[in-house]
Amino acid sequence: MSGAAFPPRMRVILLGPPGAGKGTQAARLAEHFRVARISTGDILRRNVSGGTALGKQADAFMKAGKLVPDDLVIEMVKARLAEPDCRGGFILDGFPRTVAQAEALAKITTIDHVVNMFLEPEELLKRSIGRRVCPKCEAVYHILSNPPKVDGVCNRCGTTLIQRTDDAREVVEARILEFESRTAPLVEFYRKKGVVRQVYAAGIIDEISHRLFEAVKAP
Ligand code: AMP
Repeated sequence: MSGAAFPPRMRVILLGPPGAGKGTQAARLAEHFRVARISTGDILRRNVSGGTALGKQADAFMKAGKLVPDDLVIEMVKARLAEPDCRGGFILDGFPRTVAQAEALAKITTIDHVVNMFLEPEELLKRSIGRRVCPKCEAVYHILSNPPKVDGVCNRCGTTLIQRTDDAREVVEARILEFESRTAPLVEFYRKKGVVRQVYAAGIIDEISHRLFEAVKAP
């Protein structure tokens, strides 16, 4: 026996198109394995609503469903990964999204698992358009598959739920195109490193979580 496993094997990337359920599952994974969750979309949205310099630069890209420039996002993630709560492992939700981001990440840290969440393309639009989010605690719901207990109200903190502006149909379509051209190639990038785990992302949310938990336990 070589003693306790160190460094931790819970440095995980969730890959998948908009609407695959990355946000919901990243939160569950992070809670289950008690590791940090890093959602670049959430960090960017906080910067936009806080009116920071980064938020001002990112806003127009996000509204159009385009990716925010690599250099901005890479600096943001570098700073976040240096925080102490990431030492025990992390779930990256929405990063990397380009090969340049993946290359930059490789210089900062090793990745243990890249979970590729896949599902039928025709499901994606439905999922994003039905999504509702809590602007306060960032909990994610879906009007059909994961409704809040009280219509339009967050279960956790009681705040009125909203629809993300980039969940409008035309913007979701632009985000899916960005994914296909710029993010999908990452599956091949990571396949070469032998860390890709395929997880089918349709069905009941608990079952999908179970598939993910199993996938990241793989050696
Ligand atoms: P998400 O919440 O992950 O769907 O991200 C929402 C939006 O934030 C995306 O459509 C992009 O405009 C921007 N964004 C989030 N993560 C990244 C990233 N890694 N690279 C570039 N843009 C990003």
